[in-house]
Amino acid sequence: MTEELSRLKDHYLRCVRCGQCRSVCPVFEEIRNETVTPRAKVFLAHMLAGGEVKADAEASFNLSQCLLCRACSRECPSAVPVHEIVTAARSLTSRKVPNPVQKIVFKDIWTRPALLNLSAGVVRRCQGLGILDLGISLKLLPRSFSLPGRLSPRPARALISQLTKAQGRAKMRLGYFLGCSTNFLYPEIALGTVEVLSQLGCDVIMPRELKCCGLPQLETGELNAARSLAAANSESFKRLGIEVVVTDCASCAATIKESPEFERIRVMDLSELLVELLSGQNTGFTRIQKPVTYHDPCHQAKALGITSSPRELLRLICDDYREMPGASKCCGGGGTFALNHYDISMGILNKKVASIKETGAETVATSCPTCIMQLRHGLLKHSCKTEVAHPVQLLAQCLGLAHIKPAI
Ligand code: SF4
Ligand code: SF4
Repeated sequence: MTEELSRLKDHYLRCVRCGQCRSVCPVFEEIRNETVTPRAKVFLAHMLAGGEVKADAEASFNLSQCLLCRACSRECPSAVPVHEIVTAARSLTSRKVPNPVQKIVFKDIWTRPALLNLSAGVVRRCQGLGILDLGISLKLLPRSFSLPGRLSPRPARALISQLTKAQGRAKMRLGYFLGCSTNFLYPEIALGTVEVLSQLGCDVIMPRELKCCGLPQLETGELNAARSLAAANSESFKRLGIEVVVTDCASCAATIKESPEFERIRVMDLSELLVELLSGQNTGFTRIQKPVTYHDPCHQAKALGITSSPRELLRLICDDYREMPGASKCCGGGGTFALNHYDISMGILNKKVASIKETGAETVATSCPTCIMQLRHGLLKHSCKTEVAHPVQLLAQCLGLAHIKPAI
């Protein structure tokens, strides 16, 4: 039994197999097979821990059919933390039946910023030459490779200096955690975050040596790698005397906030901070006229329990905010899930696209770059012209930072 599974024994023994979690599981809703239900995963973890079931390829596959969206953990009347149990069980299967490609990408490359940068450069070059598109159309590469879209010509790290000073007198000194997806795919979100915060009176410090938040490693069962990343990142902030860290990525926010290594640092979701900074201010900025809706990232709504501040922010800056039916339902991205289970992921995404269309909104805002990537992919597939934006990109427009554009 792994140390992680044994630590969770009291939790998985609390599962009474009532099945309440089934009703909220997006993967079960999509494929209607009992083996993918949360309770089946809890039972599987229990069997793996006791050695009644072998940690083989089948167990690994069953555990991989989970978005770690936490809908089940929040729904469970016995407070079983299903997502933690799945993560711990994955750490066992990742050791017994390692996936070599996943190990090279997430453990060997993703944990080393220089190597990750170099690899991103190679991907960017291949995209530029059309090699990836050709590989996908010839079915030599999986269709999920089209998900991220084009990497940005320059990552955010190359565009933002370690210190961005507040405009006027500084009211606050903040650390900025730059996540990998924001860095490589959407540098305009990072620029928007730093410039908006500076305009609102914050000195923003982005330590040069920051690494990945550790989420891809947690998802793939590489728990030790995730812990080392958290330790290195918290050390980078502490060395600079930073006590408050903000991030524009809900997944990074949840991951670092839940790391014991960040215990002494206050981690804030960007929308929470922006509402705080804007409250009581006579902002006098231009408001967004077109209809806007909001998709709740699972890490923001279910992990951090934050649902009101992004809406407060949008209502503050938009004339026509529209609530989406099922706004907090997962979009089917789930980090590595969409790469491994593309068809299931697209089935879940189709429902989300239908909900977005139902609102008639011209912009869908969300606070996680992985959700932005997924929504953008779904809307393009459905030839839907709705643009996708991070709330900070909309606020940047209101504040006259016209160069900060939305994702489509
Ligand atoms: S995980 Fe919770 S909701 Fe699901 S079957 Fe077990 S006790 Fe019921
Ligand atoms: S975390 Fe989400 S996808 Fe995974 S079992 Fe629970 S509800 Fe289903």
